[in-house]
Amino acid sequence: MTQPASRLRWHRETVRRGGRAASFWWCEARGSRPGPEVAILAGQHGMEPTGPAMLAAWLRDLDVSRLRGTIRAAPLANVEALRGGFECEIPPARLKRARALGMMPGACPLRLNRQSCGRNLNRLWPGKGDGTLHERLVEALRRCVVAGASHLVDFHCWSDSGPAGVIGYSDAAIEFGRRFGLPHLHRYPLTDHPGFLSLWAMRAGKTAITVELTPQTRVFRSGAEAGRRGLDNLLRHLGMLPGPERPLPEQFLLEFRRGDFRPMRLPWDALVVPEVEPGGRHEKGARLGRAVKLDDPRIVRVLRAPCDGLLMALPHRAVVSAGQSVLTFYRARKLPPPGGAI
Ligand SMILES: [Zn+2]
Repeated sequence: MTQPASRLRWHRETVRRGGRAASFWWCEARGSRPGPEVAILAGQHGMEPTGPAMLAAWLRDLDVSRLRGTIRAAPLANVEALRGGFECEIPPARLKRARALGMMPGACPLRLNRQSCGRNLNRLWPGKGDGTLHERLVEALRRCVVAGASHLVDFHCWSDSGPAGVIGYSDAAIEFGRRFGLPHLHRYPLTDHPGFLSLWAMRAGKTAITVELTPQTRVFRSGAEAGRRGLDNLLRHLGMLPGPERPLPEQFLLEFRRGDFRPMRLPWDALVVPEVEPGGRHEKGARLGRAVKLDDPRIVRVLRAPCDGLLMALPHRAVVSAGQSVLTFYRARKLPPPGGAI
């Protein structure tokens, strides 16, 4: 019996509704030997370009003759949103106005709620073949790319106020996601929005992770390299690509249980002077930075870690209002070497 030839083929899928259309490119890379089926998605959100750019380039370099199993991938899942640079697709006239107003990429030019707007692809899984244009787009991504996979990787980007990380909803997802090689793993609650791809995929029996690279709106070499290394490592771990897995860094798990977020509030408006980078682990009492009182620069307060945990983000705005948390700090625990109980 002859072995099936390895190959990578691109396809283009278009969905239509009421005179409008949405398209995406997807590819299937089939190795010459059997193995797992992995789905890789990027670009559901328009202000998160690192995954799309990195994944498209990674697919170009993929040597399918060395591949075991099958990869299905859509690197530019929501191309019109990527073109616009906001989370969701925005009609051209509104986009023009939003740009003229200097609206930030995290905002919605249509002033809609990102959880319920019906345009946010990563709130619409598993999609609907007879639904809105965006629901049809999600249904087509599911049908073409995700449906047959045992494992799923969905690339997103956090803003540059925090470090890259991997999100999962189950022990299996965390254990798989560790092999991506980032220091921070996040177990999100099952009460999360049911339309998230990786939550839906977990419920559909897949091992699914969301990878949050950084930053938003631009592609940095560091983010692209992290994505590339992580994908290689995941596929080596699954035995789909040859080569040894890279050693993992020290890894920490954030579980977002009640009380894990440790707000650091001040009674006055403050400017924060960070003394550590976001992403680091700190023991209780460690010095993280200082806060300067906006109305009286003679008053400067030292900010210390409220417990053992991770500094996840600097403030999104330089000035933090009285009563708001000046630094985003979570209780976190160090993970034992992979393979054991989490
Ligand atoms: Zn996203």
